[in-house]
Amino acid sequence: MRTPVAAACLAFSLCFAASASAATTQGGEPHTAKAEGGALDVVSVSFGQRSRELEIVYRSTEAITPQLLAEVKGGQICTVFEQASIAARAVCVTRSNGKWQIVSRGERVEGSVSQPRESELRLRFEPAAAKLRVGLADVYVNATAAGCSAQQAKAAKVTWSEAAIVSAAVLELPCEHRLPRVGNYRARVWDVVVSGCRRHGAGQVSRGPSGSKRVALTYDDGPSTYTPAFLRELRKLGVPATFFVIGQQVSANASVVRAMLRDGNMVANHSWNHANLGGGGAGASSQLRDTNAAIRRATGFTPCLFRPPYGSTGADLVSRANAQGMTSVLWSVDPLDWRTPGTGAIVNTALGQTHGGGIILSHDGGGPRSQTLEAMPQIVRGLKRRGYTFVTLTDLLGYSERITLAK
Ligand code: ZN
Repeated sequence: MRTPVAAACLAFSLCFAASASAATTQGGEPHTAKAEGGALDVVSVSFGQRSRELEIVYRSTEAITPQLLAEVKGGQICTVFEQASIAARAVCVTRSNGKWQIVSRGERVEGSVSQPRESELRLRFEPAAAKLRVGLADVYVNATAAGCSAQQAKAAKVTWSEAAIVSAAVLELPCEHRLPRVGNYRARVWDVVVSGCRRHGAGQVSRGPSGSKRVALTYDDGPSTYTPAFLRELRKLGVPATFFVIGQQVSANASVVRAMLRDGNMVANHSWNHANLGGGGAGASSQLRDTNAAIRRATGFTPCLFRPPYGSTGADLVSRANAQGMTSVLWSVDPLDWRTPGTGAIVNTALGQTHGGGIILSHDGGGPRSQTLEAMPQIVRGLKRRGYTFVTLTDLLGYSERITLAK
């Protein structure tokens, strides 16, 4: 079996491009199956895993129209994954309720489908969402046009290239189209490790884009004895936060910092020992570097956000943070929780000041934090009622994750 690998695909963990020649050139005329009941002529497929998501790209010689893949008439393009010790899983794209949908075993798979050109469909989904396992898989593709009945499929026991030789007028075209025609591709589903994030844009920010009602909760000065309770509360509320941690407190609380990331929160740098670094200088650089090293040792993750202690900042400090791949982040909403003004006051100030793109400052360490903890669910529910959604700071700023793929 021949599986030519396109050069553009080499960065991918698994990637094959099926040869179009067998399907389209042998009979001379390219196949077109615009009518219902014909074969859907998928001539190439490529697989890749750039990030958490597996990407499958199907290309055809013709427009892949909603009609061709109408779910009600059985239209679909499926990639079948055969993995050791589990039953084969078909992950299919179909058209239903006016939308492209990814479906596996009759259930919707969360993901996205785009159509960069009319003859191309691009699917992205997390392998776990389709219940695929990390490891090797035998893979093939099966395309069925809408309206293709079982009888038709049986009657048309010719391969596509044979069909192409005979005039389409005298031969019913085959309903199904398989790639590769014989055998399987060999693919690998990788485990995904988030190893960092990638900053861009302004060197220092104090708010996110105001266009949408997204806000970021941030907690400074931990990890502390309070932090596990903050994490439990966030899990209950189903929202993420961003934790600016003190470097020298990380190694003794390594499991707490790991739990932050595991729960979908963001971990960020708040200096080694909360020194005032506003004047910059080489000492500031080593505070930042040592803190990132401690976080990396505990979690494997390298932050891309830094918050200057006391909000004390300056051009030299910002450029030193940027040089280490971090944006300097201040805030736009300050309920002054560290002064312990009472839970009600913290809640009211937070609700009163919040705006689209808001960065809310609070503290999970550095003093008594039960008021801050008590205020959190009230702030979250209050802002949700006003239509706000909660995201990590990296999401708010549109930063991407750095991903490492592991077997
Ligand atoms: Zn602080």
